[in-house]
Amino acid sequence: TMEHYDVIIIGAGAAGLMCAAETGKRGRRVLLLDKADKIGKKILISGGGRCNFTNLNTNPAAYLSHNPHFCKSALARYAPQDFLNLMRKHGLSWHEKTLGQLFCDQKAPAIVAMLWEECAQAGVVLRLNTEVDTIIRREAASFHLQTGSCTLACTALVIATGGPSIPRMGATDFGIRLARQFGLKSVPFSPALVPFTFTQDVLDGLFAGLAGVSTEVAVSCGEGHFREYMLFTHRGLSGPAMLQVSSYWHKGETLEINLLPDRDALEWLSVMQQQRPKTELKTLLAEALPNRLAQRLCETLLPNRPMGQYGGKQLQAISQQLQAWQLTPAGTEGMRTAEVSLGGVDTRELSSKTLEARKVQGLYFIGETVDVTGWLGGYNFQWAWASGWCAGQYA
Ligand code: FAD
Repeated sequence: TMEHYDVIIIGAGAAGLMCAAETGKRGRRVLLLDKADKIGKKILISGGGRCNFTNLNTNPAAYLSHNPHFCKSALARYAPQDFLNLMRKHGLSWHEKTLGQLFCDQKAPAIVAMLWEECAQAGVVLRLNTEVDTIIRREAASFHLQTGSCTLACTALVIATGGPSIPRMGATDFGIRLARQFGLKSVPFSPALVPFTFTQDVLDGLFAGLAGVSTEVAVSCGEGHFREYMLFTHRGLSGPAMLQVSSYWHKGETLEINLLPDRDALEWLSVMQQQRPKTELKTLLAEALPNRLAQRLCETLLPNRPMGQYGGKQLQAISQQLQAWQLTPAGTEGMRTAEVSLGGVDTRELSSKTLEARKVQGLYFIGETVDVTGWLGGYNFQWAWASGWCAGQYA
């Protein structure tokens, strides 16, 4: 049998749901396909079930891409306020946690229900548990999809299959493979927003006994600079500061961590040397850092003495260690736990306004499948909404 639709969207995640609703509102006959047994799985697990659905500070600088300009158009046309208006319409409310991060008071399932309601009202047909075996382009703006016993035909095909992070949820690199089939370039996917691992030497030495300790730091790696919490784990370093900077890290590179981001360490230590010469360094550090971390640093990296006994050069070296601590991760936890993936379909292949492939009329790519990756804090969903909304105006 052959079924005809105007538009078929593969992937009923954040971007696909938004795109389906918008496309349907234009009176197009839309089929939304997903191989999973329910829609919006990553929305449901996001933000610990509360869904950090956008960020008030959304701006192009919060996104990584080989073309940093590409995301500008979509982000400008569909802003966080537009999503908030949609939530208001559905009676949903939200609260800001930190740094512009908005969470849904009614939790993640309410966001999924809202998006599905928009789709249903727009007449979108949903088919779950459906994997596409082959896709053939018959001619310009005519695609045939083979799924089991059924052939589906459409004039516009939207790929919204996300990225390969968290493979146990069924995430794959389908988007990139499909792009390749149509002769479009892509940037290989790699894990981002992911905890760092360290060698056993470091875990048993420098980091021994620190698992669970958390402290606010300023961390830098390459172009990435973040000021947030860092968490020691049994396998290395995590917490928002480390997840953020992981998107900028390449194997072999060193992180620079400022453990005292609020003070000038040298000035502070010099004043303390004058005022409290008998106080030991570890006692003093415990006033500015978690106690266990202060102790551990003074057992490993730093010579522990009464403050009065340090020379000027030593104080300088200690300050340097505290404010520009150099740490080289062994690796990351990889796709298994990565919150998103870097890479995706090369933005040069796509129109930034419509998200349509320049060389393949009627073929669109949206969401995480595109080489646009946001920071932690709601930026990735905002890209999914914005790119889905834009494609939905044209598909
Ligand atoms: P997805 O939402 O992943 O949707 C892709 C859909 O395509 C899925 O339904 C999948 O089943 C389907 N699919 C895949 N391959 C096929 C195929 N071959 N055939 C048919 N269907 C297919 N971002 C934030 O902004 N805020 C957060 O709080 C946040 N928390 C997160 C927490 C976790 C644990 C994870 C893993 C991610 C989180 N993210 C968060 C990132 C965010 O979930 C993604 O960036 C976003 O979901 C991407 O949207 P998408 O529509 O492109 O892809």
